[in-house]
Amino acid sequence: MEADVLVELKAKQVDHTFTYHIPDSLIESVQKGVRVMVPFSHQKLEGFVLEVHKDQLGSQAKDLISVIDEQPVLNEEMLELGKYISKKTFSTLISAYQTMLPKALKAHHDVSVSKKYVSLIRINKEADLKGKQKELYEVIQKKGSVFKKDALMISSYALKVLLEKGILKEEKQEVYRLQEESVLEEKKVTLTSKQQEIVDTVCKRIHQFQPYLLHGVTGSGKTEVYMHIMEQILKQGKEAIVLVPEISLTPQMVRHFKQRFGTSVAILHSRLSDGEKYDEWRKIEKKEVQIAIGARSAIFAPFTNLGVIIIDEEHSSTYKQENNPRYHAIDIAIKRVKTHKCPILLGSATPSIESYTRAKSNIYTLLELKERIHQKMPSVKIVDMQKEMKQGNRILSSTLKEKIESCLEKKEQVILLLNRRGYTTIVTCKSCGYVDKCPNCEIPLTYHKDSNTMRCHYCGYGSRKLTECPSCHRKEINEYGMGTQRLEELIKNTFDAKVVRMDMDTTSKKGAHEKITTAFENGEYDILLGTQMIAKGLDFPNVTLVGVLNADATLQIPDFRSSERTFELLNQVAGRAGRSEKEGEVIFQCFNVDHYSILCAANHDYKSFYEEEMRIRKKLQYPPFTNLALIRIHGKNIEEIIESSNKIATYLKRNCKEATILGPSPSNLAKKNQHYYYQVIVKYKNTKDVYEHFWFIRNRYQKDSHISVEIECNPLKF
Ligand code: ADP
Ligand code: ZN
Repeated sequence: MEADVLVELKAKQVDHTFTYHIPDSLIESVQKGVRVMVPFSHQKLEGFVLEVHKDQLGSQAKDLISVIDEQPVLNEEMLELGKYISKKTFSTLISAYQTMLPKALKAHHDVSVSKKYVSLIRINKEADLKGKQKELYEVIQKKGSVFKKDALMISSYALKVLLEKGILKEEKQEVYRLQEESVLEEKKVTLTSKQQEIVDTVCKRIHQFQPYLLHGVTGSGKTEVYMHIMEQILKQGKEAIVLVPEISLTPQMVRHFKQRFGTSVAILHSRLSDGEKYDEWRKIEKKEVQIAIGARSAIFAPFTNLGVIIIDEEHSSTYKQENNPRYHAIDIAIKRVKTHKCPILLGSATPSIESYTRAKSNIYTLLELKERIHQKMPSVKIVDMQKEMKQGNRILSSTLKEKIESCLEKKEQVILLLNRRGYTTIVTCKSCGYVDKCPNCEIPLTYHKDSNTMRCHYCGYGSRKLTECPSCHRKEINEYGMGTQRLEELIKNTFDAKVVRMDMDTTSKKGAHEKITTAFENGEYDILLGTQMIAKGLDFPNVTLVGVLNADATLQIPDFRSSERTFELLNQVAGRAGRSEKEGEVIFQCFNVDHYSILCAANHDYKSFYEEEMRIRKKLQYPPFTNLALIRIHGKNIEEIIESSNKIATYLKRNCKEATILGPSPSNLAKKNQHYYYQVIVKYKNTKDVYEHFWFIRNRYQKDSHISVEIECNPLKF
């Protein structure tokens, strides 16, 4: 027998398989989808077995060396899915498989599941508990008690699980407290009739491929709908995947799921170590859990009996992978539910223009939740900063200042959004105009006061703050702009309030988001300020005021989706106000006071926004009225890049009859990490007209060691 093996080559990757002879001793263990070690030139390399067949090469075939996995790491569905990804994204098959599998798989050769996973304690299912586990259950039922480690009588692994699941919390070293909201007490809500209707609709056709778009305003109870659907799916003995934009930003949602589904859930957290991710992946594979919740890559959870895929905040750009293979999780999800013949539910308060268009043309079934569960939508006021500036209010308008004060007086909480981190955003020389830029990326550096450094927000480069101009050597340095650090300082100086900041700089440590959100939720702070990180998915009942500084800043980004992104962000952040019994208020501070993104967001009017946006997209022939492809050409030598870019553009103009070819031109960020970037944009209606030419270009540059060419259809970022 022989095996076709896709070999992992280090340098420029190639796609075709190599055939090896299977020695008799390995016949039993070589199957489709296992990894094997093979000889390749003079090396020993790893590869995936894609096919096992009768001898074709005969004595010419070299012997396979060994088999890595007892069980296939890629089943039939996953093998096919990899091919689909590679085809859709113009990337190599091997890179698709590598993306689909947890990284740590590499380190785990010869895995046999260790016993400790099997003895996972099932707190919710008393019947399953035996001996020590039962004792533990009784001990921890005495809510609120504090335990010494010895009193727990459990293995350190079980302890780790309890800590991770938030059931126990370490108080001092080796002393633990049972958390208030543990899996032991679960609040059940009764669905509203609207919510119930949606659950019934989705669950009516559980054995059929059917995509749904749930358009529900912020606070309309979408999460509750998701959970009820999942309960039904689980009852049928099936499995569910839930995608959230960025799991560290949604600790509350994760907590709800843990409370409801206990140990049936695997959390595929982006901050888990590779080893921890691998453990979760194995739990899914061994059917120890029925639900996987995670960010983008959780879409590859190796379930074999999927009953539903739920994608929350479906418009989120985090569902698109921004390096190779550049797949979109929704495409993968649709492909998977077609295979499993089950429903998929995309939920959002601001569906992407593309998704809503699909719903309008009945490709997706549209479901709607138009009202909030508890309160009306908050009232939004737009403040014209041009007028405010004239009165000397450069940062905080008088309105926002007053509102913050009265909110603090009432002991209610405030959220402030400023979508810019750092202290100041640009540092220049007063006399010669020199701008302090990143040497790798050529974009201005941002001053970070806490570390007293200048930082590049693209590549992370850091340097000391200028004290004199490197160009004219004078010592007059100017700082412009305002980032969250400076806003924090200003707010602390202006109000008598406890302030906490949440942005990439304060949340770099594991668990930092959760710490900040929990503390804010518990009322330890009055004001939460931060970047767009604070806009998504958080549910704080005591927040009654949301202020957005520079509400129109994102409109300046040169991208045809900037209006959509602005609307989305404003709608999301406004949705944080007045989610519970108390009414909410929102202030947008901006200069473009009559831009439709701002106005529609202020009126919570998605449909008007959609119509206006579609009118403009049609006029300018942007998606969804046409398709776009972005061809990125990059490398270290600028002359080579320009030459190849010209060649590619000329080739496409000559061969793609119906498409419009734009460029080549330098990318927005023309230099990043010492690499030069050029781009060619292709606008096309007919896929057939362009694909074979894209493949020609892709294959032509695949093995080029100087120039990288990446082709991306329907990119989210330009
Ligand atoms: P969304 O995800 O649509 O923004 P959530 O699911 O977070 O909204 O719901 C908003 C709030 O309403 C949450 O605090 C949630 O617990 C509560 N809620 C949802 N459904 C119900 C219901 N049927 N009865 C009472 N409260 C509910
Ligand atoms: Zn840089």
